[in-house]
Amino acid sequence: MFWNKEIETIPEEKLKDIQLERLKKVVQYAYERVPYYRKKFEEAGIKPEDIKTLEDIKYIPFTSKADLREVYPFGMFAVPLSEIVEIHSSSGTTGKPVVMGYTREDIEVWKEVMARSLTMMGVTKEDIIQIAYGYGVFTGGLGFHYGALTIGATIVPSSAGNTRRQIELMRDFGTTVLACTPSYALYLAEYAKDEMGIDPRTLKLKAGSFGAEMWTEEMRREIEKRFGIKAYNVYGLTEIIGPGVAHECEAQEGLHIWEDHFLPEIIDPETGEPLPEGERGELVLTTLTKKGVPMIRFRTRDITAFISGKCSCGRTSRRIERIRGRTDDMIKVRGVMIFPYQIEKAILEVQGVEPHYQIILTRPHYLDEIEIQVEMSKEIFSDEVRKIEELKKRLEKRIEETIGVRVKVTLVESKSLPRSEGKAKRVIDKRGLK
Ligand SMILES: [Zn+2]
Repeated sequence: MFWNKEIETIPEEKLKDIQLERLKKVVQYAYERVPYYRKKFEEAGIKPEDIKTLEDIKYIPFTSKADLREVYPFGMFAVPLSEIVEIHSSSGTTGKPVVMGYTREDIEVWKEVMARSLTMMGVTKEDIIQIAYGYGVFTGGLGFHYGALTIGATIVPSSAGNTRRQIELMRDFGTTVLACTPSYALYLAEYAKDEMGIDPRTLKLKAGSFGAEMWTEEMRREIEKRFGIKAYNVYGLTEIIGPGVAHECEAQEGLHIWEDHFLPEIIDPETGEPLPEGERGELVLTTLTKKGVPMIRFRTRDITAFISGKCSCGRTSRRIERIRGRTDDMIKVRGVMIFPYQIEKAILEVQGVEPHYQIILTRPHYLDEIEIQVEMSKEIFSDEVRKIEELKKRLEKRIEETIGVRVKVTLVESKSLPRSEGKAKRVIDKRGLK
């Protein structure tokens, strides 16, 4: 199913023509209207008219999250505030938040890309979609809202939290599609079953769109099994538009980027050089049509790779693999780079544990140590001590094989780790603390 078949299946060459034309325009637009870009361009010794091919984008300097914070709140805006109809902001857990303004046209683009994304996973006007992403200055709730509204699906704008109520709404309204973070989806399934005696598979849900945090293929299978649904990956970020930059189609083999609006590159995060197709690196995005706050070569810090070849769904836009984490999620332990992604994957490969875990870093004797707390399944917990000890050994071995560093696993009782209604906190770094 397509929302906009013409553009979604456009021949590659034609798409490139559109991209080039739009790239030239947005570069000129940003240069003329945003002093930050003009200064950056001048420092790099380039002018908008130097951009003659798509490859020429490599001469333009990157834009980083730090750059955006420096001009807080409205320094990147390309239009007067009277033209801005909505403002969103990133959470700002590390320093000042990033502020984005949307013009009426920007909201139209958001509606379009989210409508395409939801249609791609089978959502129609017959569906009842429960949006359990937070509504507010965070983009998750409203992004999904706009897409669903455009399609004409029935929206249940439940927002995040109030878990019991979420399940009652699903049951009583016959919700068919769920949108939230993957960790919250898991919590919803667990809560329904254990606290309310409702088997999540008896609900009318058929699909879910999950994102805004790192999750593995193993976690997807877990969510699909518990709800009896198809679980799709959504990708987006406030700096670019919010959810709807990319989404999985029914083939579930990577996320299609809406390339007529967002121009993707994958670079080596160390050198900034473009990487050959298929190599994993940092995703860099340029907005091709954004009017409120154009983003030129924004460094997302998200790690992914392009998937080559054509997708069986018939869409021609390029695909990226699921996000492996962020460059700033990388944990450096005894000189080895580790992603929480690898640890989650290893844990879920072992039988007898629940998909709830936390990674705790300490430095007791001038040497980093990793402790991973994992919840045991109820069956194991009531088992004999010897079996629990065996499970712990198996987990330690599996994780060590995956990341190449010795870890200590602590098995904890079911439901003893914190549950999240939004983005899960996986890593607790206590190394700086005395
Ligand atoms: Zn596809």
